[in-house]
Amino acid sequence: MRILVVDDSRMARTVLCQQLESFGHQTVFAESGQEALARSRDEPIDIALVDFRVGAMEGVEVCWHLRAAQKERHLYLMLMIPGSITNQFFEVVENGADEFLRKPLDLTWLRARLLAASRVVDMQRQLERLATTDSLTGALNRGRFMARAAEEVARARRNSRPLSAIMLDIDHFKKVNDTHGHATGDEAIRTVVRVCRSMVRGVDVLGRLGGEEFAILLPETPPQGAALLAERLRRTLAETDVRIANGAGAGSALTFTVSIGVSALRPDEEAVSAVLARADAALYRAKNGGRNRVVCDAAGLPGV
Ligand code: GH3
Ligand code: MG
Ligand code: MG
Repeated sequence: MRILVVDDSRMARTVLCQQLESFGHQTVFAESGQEALARSRDEPIDIALVDFRVGAMEGVEVCWHLRAAQKERHLYLMLMIPGSITNQFFEVVENGADEFLRKPLDLTWLRARLLAASRVVDMQRQLERLATTDSLTGALNRGRFMARAAEEVARARRNSRPLSAIMLDIDHFKKVNDTHGHATGDEAIRTVVRVCRSMVRGVDVLGRLGGEEFAILLPETPPQGAALLAERLRRTLAETDVRIANGAGAGSALTFTVSIGVSALRPDEEAVSAVLARADAALYRAKNGGRNRVVCDAAGLPGV
């Protein structure tokens, strides 16, 4: 686990970090509530171990802020309470802590409670993954893609940066299923995601919006760049073999094509739905124009 130790005493946190590392955990530390908040925002923290008092702040207050600031990633909060305090247990948990540990820390107890916390964290991560990704391909599911897309649109608008969108749909996919079976169809869907992943950057957001329909959001990318990528994707996918799983032609390979629509965020536009709707309209034109092609939303692409 990645554990954040929040303690204003350098001695205490050094000793604690060493102990946690000897248990096999990774550690980071913060010496104030503000620093703890910044850390939990910038780094993937699993568990926070917060001292009862951190500088000017009560540990409970730190827990409350950490809990309030967390978004989709659950943080397991443990508060360290001096043995002399015997009556604030309810408030501690009410304010966001998942557990409290008595000070001075008993190392066997600490190790055991961290093991129990790790199980909760693992389960939480598994649930987060199930809720946000598509199980067939591992791409973001529709809900998570839309949430990420809204964040990217807000960021692009705030910083006046370009943002483009790509919508992609497999051509005549029904025929792939009907001719070669569902398992081969599934393999084609996985192929789209594998190829897209290999060709986009880490900051790009890839989602499976429905059956055989995908979207990619490209931050910091003007429409011309998105159109070039779309064309490379189209060509690469058309040249990629999919192994036929069973039935007629089992063991041999098939190829398929995709149609793609491209759009870009307009300066006067704030809703992600508008950008995607224009990419979708362009995709529709690609289908009507004969499929296996890229069409760009004319409004967003001067000269294309
Ligand atoms: P078009 O070129 O116009 O896009 O034609 P199409 O046949 O690809 O379009 P349509 O959207 O009508 O068909 C999509 C098919 O995708 C229908 C559905 O059975 C299939 N499908 C949806 N989800 C899955 C899936 O998870 N696995 C498989 N194998 N097929 C799926
Ligand atoms: Mg289709
Ligand atoms: Mg479709």
